Amino acid sequence: MTRAQRYDDPAVRKVLDALPTGVLVDGAWRPAAGGTFAVDDPATGAELARVADAGPAEAMAALDAATAAQASWGETAPRERADLLRAAYDATLARRDEFAVLMTLEMGKPLAEAHAELDYAVDFLRWFSEEAVRIDGDYVRAPNGRGRLLVTSRPVGPCLLITPWNFPLAMATRKIAPALAAGCTAVLKPAELTPLTTLLFTQLLVELGLPAGVLNVLTTTDPGALTRPLLADGRIRKLSFTGSTEVGKVLLAQCADKVVRTSMELGGNAPLLVFADADLDAAVDGAVMAKMRNMGEACTASNRLYVAREVAEEFGRRLADRLGGMRLGHGLDEGTQVGPLIDRPSLEKVTTLVDDAVHRGARVLTGGRPAGPEGGWFFQPTVLADVSTDARVMREEVFGPVAPVVPFDTEEEAVRWANDTEYGLVAYVFTESLERGLRVSEALEVGMVGLNQGIVSNAAAPFGGVKESGIGREGGRAGIREFLDTKYVAVPR
Ligand code: NAD
Repeated sequence: MTRAQRYDDPAVRKVLDALPTGVLVDGAWRPAAGGTFAVDDPATGAELARVADAGPAEAMAALDAATAAQASWGETAPRERADLLRAAYDATLARRDEFAVLMTLEMGKPLAEAHAELDYAVDFLRWFSEEAVRIDGDYVRAPNGRGRLLVTSRPVGPCLLITPWNFPLAMATRKIAPALAAGCTAVLKPAELTPLTTLLFTQLLVELGLPAGVLNVLTTTDPGALTRPLLADGRIRKLSFTGSTEVGKVLLAQCADKVVRTSMELGGNAPLLVFADADLDAAVDGAVMAKMRNMGEACTASNRLYVAREVAEEFGRRLADRLGGMRLGHGLDEGTQVGPLIDRPSLEKVTTLVDDAVHRGARVLTGGRPAGPEGGWFFQPTVLADVSTDARVMREEVFGPVAPVVPFDTEEEAVRWANDTEYGLVAYVFTESLERGLRVSEALEVGMVGLNQGIVSNAAAPFGGVKESGIGREGGRAGIREFLDTKYVAVPR
């Protein structure tokens, strides 16, 4: 397909031509004083759109709007907030093709994966529409019998929501839905590499009657300059951040000054453990899913595969057959299973980590090099065997389609290696022994475990990590509590 054919396709033009490209402040789309910046298709480098480049002035206007709207939004009937989120669920599903095409264009993922992300993303709208009307409290007699304890929940107040580029719709709904359900207003800053899906979704909320100021959206090329004054102001009462551990630490420090509450969904370096008694077909399927979803650009990606020595060779061969047979291409093209990485630095990092592992003695079972379709940032799906445990690829978050396989001899060794990291988001365990599965799941220092499955994401489950992978949980019963403060009233008899 030529470039002109791809971007002149009616389905593509329909989405791109209707996009809002300004900042949303106090219910109105407006340009930013800083002009605009380009958003490119990572599969080809073609410019898709230009969006507003906001700075501190727009940030303060957005904060003013969110602050002004807080009292009335916090007082709306929970059912009203629930209905808005439920309407957003229905409307996003009704426009699924537009959203999927846009996600594929700006992020690169194959269209089928964009649809899968949409299903995951809308589930947060439905889940938190249901949670909005179940914010409970407590009224009990004090243990000493003198008086009553009345415990209620209040919206924490205006929030700053910061999202990464890898799941442009799901990361947005995973924050917007619980914040709005809890009665909080927000300023949302999507990632500069993939802001378009968030803009389209915000427009949809506006069309559904979102009151002015309740959600304000700012796109920018200089996130630090925009968010620092917001966190220093004192009116933002909550930061919900998803992104790298490195940036998360900077933001945690900034939150200290005004004691801003935080939810931090940070990096991961997930181990995947395959025991000798595992169903090898299920383990390979799980590894393909956990590794190749989003081209490996997921915080949940299985980046370190520890496999029992008895089955390591066989597992590596089967995994290499599967990954080596995957088709690379533009995500909109039929049959594409692997899209490009997001940008040149990502491609360079993945290449460097693979070269380092090979330099330290790893064998390349498949892949190992950048690949070329259409001049985008593609890297071949790669399986490495006999990887040294001190190779950089075992310690750093690779964020690419690279699966390093390391044989282990004992369960104790596998668990020790799995835990030997500053990260603690998720782990995957494959074994047919229930007893071992539960024992190992308990021993792993992570927030989530996929037991005999390569995916854990579910709107009804508490998603999040321990150690340097984060603080707090998104989704599940815990998700809305991140946006609520507890208030206790001591009541005399
Ligand atoms: P990133 O940390 O570079 O950026 C995340 C967001 O922070 C973006 O919106 C970016 O513009 C913004 N940002 C960057 N510097 C900032 C600063 N100084 N001040 C304020 N905001 C700033 O991460 P990324 O490359 O967009 O995303 C990939 C990372 O996100 C990976 O580490 C991945 O593991 C992590 N991630 C975690 C989860 C999770 O739930 N734990 C989910 C998805 C991605």
